[in-house]
Amino acid sequence: MQGTTAPRVRVFPGRRRICDAEPVDILDELRDLIGADQVSTAPERLEAYRYDLSRDPAAQTPLAVVRPVTAEQVQQTMKWAAAQRIPVIPRGAGTSLSGGASAQQGSIVLALDRMTGIAIDPDTRTAVVEPGALNIAVKQAAAEHGLWYPPDPSSVEISSIGGNVATNAGGLCCVKYGVTRDYVLGLDVVLADGRLARLGGPRLKDVAGLSLLQLFVGSEGTLGVVTRIVLRLVPELPPPATLVALFATPDEAAAAVVETCSAVRPSMVELMDNASINAVEDFQSMGLDRAAGALLLIQTDAPGAARELELEVAQRACEKHGATAVFSTDDPEEAQMFVAARRAIFPALDRLGPLMLEDVGVPLPALPALVRGIGAIAQRHRLRIPVVAHAGDGNTHPIIVLDPADPDCRDRAALAYDEIMRLALSLDGTITGEHGIGRIKRPWLAEQLGPDVMDLHARIKNALDPDGLLNPGAGY
Ligand SMILES: Cc1cc2nc3c(=O)[nH]c(=O)nc-3n(C[C@H](O)[C@H](O)[C@H](O)COP(=O)(O)OP(=O)(O)OC[C@H]3O[C@@H](n4cnc5c(N)ncnc54)[C@H](O)[C@@H]3O)c2cc1C
Repeated sequence: MQGTTAPRVRVFPGRRRICDAEPVDILDELRDLIGADQVSTAPERLEAYRYDLSRDPAAQTPLAVVRPVTAEQVQQTMKWAAAQRIPVIPRGAGTSLSGGASAQQGSIVLALDRMTGIAIDPDTRTAVVEPGALNIAVKQAAAEHGLWYPPDPSSVEISSIGGNVATNAGGLCCVKYGVTRDYVLGLDVVLADGRLARLGGPRLKDVAGLSLLQLFVGSEGTLGVVTRIVLRLVPELPPPATLVALFATPDEAAAAVVETCSAVRPSMVELMDNASINAVEDFQSMGLDRAAGALLLIQTDAPGAARELELEVAQRACEKHGATAVFSTDDPEEAQMFVAARRAIFPALDRLGPLMLEDVGVPLPALPALVRGIGAIAQRHRLRIPVVAHAGDGNTHPIIVLDPADPDCRDRAALAYDEIMRLALSLDGTITGEHGIGRIKRPWLAEQLGPDVMDLHARIKNALDPDGLLNPGAGY
């Protein structure tokens, strides 16, 4: 355990000193408040909660990992942290790909992973969920009542609802059903000073007061700690029909996406390029065509004749833009195999070497230009940059694979990483479509938002967290 006694007075001047003659361990105060079981300084625990899945090399060992089981314990922790001026890193399941949950020097990690309660109310079609519940668990609980919680990040099985809310997570069905924000009706948020704000509730319509609820969705743990979430559920849908098309190049596939989505509203439109297809095949052979330049996975859940129409429109668009093969199926198991292949891309690429993950998005008509531009950047910098995309949203994940044996690969990758974001911005796009700014994308944020909007962010942050203790260095 490090630095938890008297020297911290010098690190954080002005902090209340308990007793000059006999400095107390400030973590013991916290243990007294919320129970010793909730506060760990075991080295293996500190190491496990130091990083999120972005493996940000700048992540530091925290002072302690705090794992409350009630909202009251979260409040006590925040009050204690405010009094001691200890930075707090809220954490869900740690699957962030932007360094949003990586620990900082002198901070505690406030992990919500033991708060996993879920209650479904079929009458209001809502779920009341604690932040640590996994997305998949909410889907399963809703399904028991014939209901569905749509947001489905590829990390559906490993990410928490609290993390999904804090990052406004997207996913595969957002193209038709929207993102996490569209399903959040209510939030309990513990503020930086330990007070609990209850915002919204199980009401479909509620315009009383400013939309503070929405301010906290996507705020990346920088404005408050989410301890309870009321989610909107919808009736379960019948299984979708699936169309798979192969192309010689990703930009042909992207052109087919633009044409399809300008005419109909599929429930899923995902793109994998040749490198992604091959990485997945190497990881767990699924019989994908290794020679294809790109694969499009399109689903429709429209009822009756509209389903046939959507499939036809998609097929015609794919053929017009040079598809070398088009295949459709109503068999849910067959469809699930392609969805599983799409979801397997990150773990498949993760085995190839250190990764630098991008998450840029553009207005849909600019998707072919973005995909072409990423290909040109990869060639110019002699880098492997597989591309996978929630293509119907114009949201791509170019993933730079670093080669540790190549001495200046990391420098070239840094240039490419920067160029990809500038390319997206030049196409009226965004530097992050769904993963969030975290710590990794912070240097580019001002370029997208401009000085006035950055100032607005700073003023909101200052109003809610004047001492800057909530997730410092992350978000805005
Ligand atoms: C294989 C893989 C696939 C992925 N696919 C997608 C995808 O399709 N779409 C997508 O959007 N993302 C995707 N992600 C990224 C990641 O899963 C999401 O950002 C997810 O929402 C993070 O949830 P988490 O519980 O892991 O949060 P964490 O990683 O623990 O934290 C993420 C951020 O939320 C904050 N936070 C967490 N919990 C709280 C809370 N209770 N209160 C306040 N702040 C909190 C943290 O401080 C941090 O800033 C993927 C990640 C992986 C590894």
